[in-house]
Amino acid sequence: MMPPRPRPKSFEHFRDVQAELEQSGAALFKDAKGIESLVVRFPYSVNYIHSYAEDTPFFLGLSEGRLRGSKCTSKDCEFVYATPRGHCMVCGKPTAWFDLPTSGRVHAWTTCHFGSEAFLSETPYNLALVEFEGAGSLLLVRLKECAESDLYIGMPVEARFDPNPKYSITDVWFVPAEGALTP
Ligand SMILES: [Zn+2]
Repeated sequence: MMPPRPRPKSFEHFRDVQAELEQSGAALFKDAKGIESLVVRFPYSVNYIHSYAEDTPFFLGLSEGRLRGSKCTSKDCEFVYATPRGHCMVCGKPTAWFDLPTSGRVHAWTTCHFGSEAFLSETPYNLALVEFEGAGSLLLVRLKECAESDLYIGMPVEARFDPNPKYSITDVWFVPAEGALTP
């Protein structure tokens, strides 16, 4: 008879499960009710072909070190979007592209201890909603080079762009502006 395989190790924190999966490929996750779930790891890969369509100028802009927003073309509205929209969410008219300033202020933030695959290696990382002078909406973006304890609402921040752009939202992040961290 085949000797029984030892049970995978059991963990109560998902982070520990992930570490164990790296090691042995299987772990048991015990949830708050004490229910155990067997979690396994196996390779999976897919080439995803995605069209940015009307968002194209935003991603091309990042590769040129430009942060592009959009502005309602109606003279009665002229709402300014920091997260670009093809059509105005206020009045429904088409918008036009324009360059946002590459500096703004922290409107709100959170610290992420988990993330999708592209950001997992950076955890924990700070995610901020940045506000720009004259814009009516906010931009959700990563905030680097500062500890969670250094963050405050209204903190001046500046955009940084990946010198080797991947045409992805990871091409842009913000850092504290000079002097922003001095009390
Ligand atoms: Zn409008």
